[in-house]
Amino acid sequence: MNTTRFTPADAAELYGIPNWSSGYFRVSDKGKVEVTPAPGLSATLHDIIDELVERGESMPMILRFPQVISARVKQLNEAFRTAIREYEYEGSYQGVFPIKVNQRRMVVETIAEAGYVYAHGLEAGSKAELALCLAQNMNPEALLCCNGFKDDGFIKLALWGRSLGKNVVITLEKFSELDRVLRISRELGIKPALGARFKLHARGSGQWEESGGDQAKFGLNASELLQVVERLKQEDMLDSLVMLHTHIGSQITDIRRIKVAVREATQVYSDIVDEGVKLKYLNVGGGLGVDYDGSKTTFYASMNYTLQEYASDIVYTVQEVCKSNQVASPVIVSESGRALTAHHAVLIMPVIDVTGPTRGSQIVPEPSEDQHQIVKDLEEILAGINARNYREMYNDAVGDKETLHNLFDLGYLTLRDRARGEALFNAILKKLAKLVQDLPYVPDELEDLPKTLADKYICNFSLFQSLPDNWAIQALFPITPISRLNERPTRQATLVDITCDSDGKIEKFIDLRDVKATLPLHEVSGDTYYLGIFLMGAYQDVLGSAHNLFGKVNEAHLTVRPGGKHTIDLFVRGQKARRIIESMGYEEAMLRESIRVQAERARAVGELTDADITELEEDYDEELLGYTYLEYEE
Ligand SMILES: *Cc1c(COP(=O)(O)O)cnc(C)c1O
Repeated sequence: MNTTRFTPADAAELYGIPNWSSGYFRVSDKGKVEVTPAPGLSATLHDIIDELVERGESMPMILRFPQVISARVKQLNEAFRTAIREYEYEGSYQGVFPIKVNQRRMVVETIAEAGYVYAHGLEAGSKAELALCLAQNMNPEALLCCNGFKDDGFIKLALWGRSLGKNVVITLEKFSELDRVLRISRELGIKPALGARFKLHARGSGQWEESGGDQAKFGLNASELLQVVERLKQEDMLDSLVMLHTHIGSQITDIRRIKVAVREATQVYSDIVDEGVKLKYLNVGGGLGVDYDGSKTTFYASMNYTLQEYASDIVYTVQEVCKSNQVASPVIVSESGRALTAHHAVLIMPVIDVTGPTRGSQIVPEPSEDQHQIVKDLEEILAGINARNYREMYNDAVGDKETLHNLFDLGYLTLRDRARGEALFNAILKKLAKLVQDLPYVPDELEDLPKTLADKYICNFSLFQSLPDNWAIQALFPITPISRLNERPTRQATLVDITCDSDGKIEKFIDLRDVKATLPLHEVSGDTYYLGIFLMGAYQDVLGSAHNLFGKVNEAHLTVRPGGKHTIDLFVRGQKARRIIESMGYEEAMLRESIRVQAERARAVGELTDADITELEEDYDEELLGYTYLEYEE
């Protein structure tokens, strides 16, 4: 047992908080996680949760901090301004936020508002997204880029947007879209502003590498791009083409890939300008990463560059290529989504139970009279295991347990012997856990041991609703207890959710080197133990699905005030069971009617009284109107 004092600084290091938080989260002297949206402003997550629980709100819950989004918008724009000043770049920068990353009203409105002074715009990838964007109050200079495949309706909306005074640019994703745009533009009598998405041969790095390169889903190749120019010339509409657009994928981990892509994009830009096109904007797409594990490496959950390096390298590369080609410097556009929104949201979930092979006093059933040899073998291992032989003994035990189950399946072992065998195996693990606890390292052949020994902390949430990328593409997110960070965590755990799906678990955790199989956590005692999942504000709650009919979770939008205070600006209740059942094609009235008819039948045979039926119907109603997650009295 390590008995030296465990401080909040130790906890910050253990969970890597300063590495991944970009300064928006820290551990207080009291061992609690604080959100720090700006210098001098902080609020304690646990206090916010206590207040909401006191009000009767249920877990799990997402806490959103719009101030963090505003800070990110500012930081991105200021980084480009700094680079532009430093290199005396003659163009400017104007970002757009691709709303597919998080279309939530608060998110889009906060970005539009914080971005107003920077003429930071929006990007829509579908008709519905465009309809939403058109209704936003934007700086008239700000871009509204329309990406994605388009039909007539999409193009009409985009053109109407121009007559509403918005700087809408229609990105041509494939060649045939040009004719469609030209036709509709003639019909409506509205001149389009066009962008052309170019398929760079450069590729990204990390998980979305396939978004770039010749096989990419979207974009024109070199010859198609030249055909677009020709066609516009014929139509005498060359001045409609204002933007060259590129995108090599999300979460680019390696800055070198960005530089290579921007160089290629700027070469294409220069050549198109040489063809006589008055391009204005060079759009370098998304891909600005988020350092989820804080390792500052090219690992898929990380990035080997800072926001400032990203801006500087882009500005420098564009400038260099434009200079050598003697082409005027474009307005640089980036479509950063993940980097603007990831930090603002934290999912808070309570641990509702703990299980695991080494937990509690597991009762070993008494031996039967004619106990099987395999059970006796396990008894011997348990009695004989020590610090010198534990590797061999562990391997023997694993083999014996497998044999135990085979024998049972074939009918050679009683349930009583099986129960005793399994309990002995767990007792062996428990003893082993004590033995390896103080070892400096665990031998390679026992690599799975920490995971085998780990507790399972059952958390009141659905991975499929709240963290779909962890399930679908093994994305990593930082997870920490939100309090007790002045206390040494003594357990190693994996997390499981409350869905009935065995995939609903988290068994990979951030680490500076590769990933960890377990998360250090505290022993759960009297008070509710809350875990926070951080950096989940990009893509997660939009992609989430209602597996097992666990619906959208409750969320609180908060502003942090001076003096460690905060205000709850808005509380958005999660989906009620009724809504989510209805989304599957049922009608509420139909459900109630079915219950009523069955209750009548039960009354007819004397199973229920009138009072019973009233109570049953009340309980049924309460669940229809209730939260889909587990609700325990705190
Ligand atoms: C999804 C997408 C983005 C957003 O990328 P991030 O990596 O989240 O910044 C930008 N541009 C296009 C074309 C996209 O499809």
